[in-house]
Amino acid sequence: HDLVVAIDGPSGSGKSTVARRVAAALGLRYLDTGAMYRAVTWWALEQDVDLADVERVAQLARELPLQQGLDPADPTVAVGGIDIAAAIRSSRISAAVSAVATNLGVRAELVARQQAVARAGGVVVEGRDITTVVAPDAPVRVLLTADEQVRLSRRALEVHGSADASAVDATRDQVVRRDADDATVASFHEAADGVDVVDSSLLSLDETVAAVLKLVEA
Ligand code: C5P
Repeated sequence: HDLVVAIDGPSGSGKSTVARRVAAALGLRYLDTGAMYRAVTWWALEQDVDLADVERVAQLARELPLQQGLDPADPTVAVGGIDIAAAIRSSRISAAVSAVATNLGVRAELVARQQAVARAGGVVVEGRDITTVVAPDAPVRVLLTADEQVRLSRRALEVHGSADASAVDATRDQVVRRDADDATVASFHEAADGVDVVDSSLLSLDETVAAVLKLVEA
């Protein structure tokens, strides 16, 4: 398989889970590009680097000794041999990652690494700018969306283990702010030309995966 499937979407759209499931169903590898921005953020904070120091952070990205496992059943992330898969999901990283993702030097480096993986083929690549920048020529390009309320509930469930009103409130600020920050570098609320939109608001996970697989077959 040398197929490339590009999937973009905002946080809470379910794109990571969907992308992993699609990759597993098709026997493809899985590349989580958000994990790469999170890994740079983790490494910068680990070394007490000021995230506003744009040149220094870009240099860190270029030197990042990232080891990323592309098996959709076990997508590992390590930096210099340290397993950071759990650490990069912390709210500390989530709150800081936009500052790193808006660094153009960081983006140039990570996009180049992502394109090297896409060029080899046989992969589902997931993120914010995959359909537009990383793999605009991919034969299958999908924008996964969901209503804001649905995205907040899913995120609350993920982070707080509950989707009750207070959990959703606790999630709202972070998600809305990160969406706004991210929108300055990658537009993911509108599909680019030729990109198929899958709205998962009213779909189960299985149904969403099936909808993407149908686009692959088409
Ligand atoms: O998808 P995830 O929430 O892990 O992404 C973390 C952050 O990385 C996003 O909020 C965004 O700032 C950045 N990102 C990006 N471009 C991508 C993937 C993620 O800017 N392709």
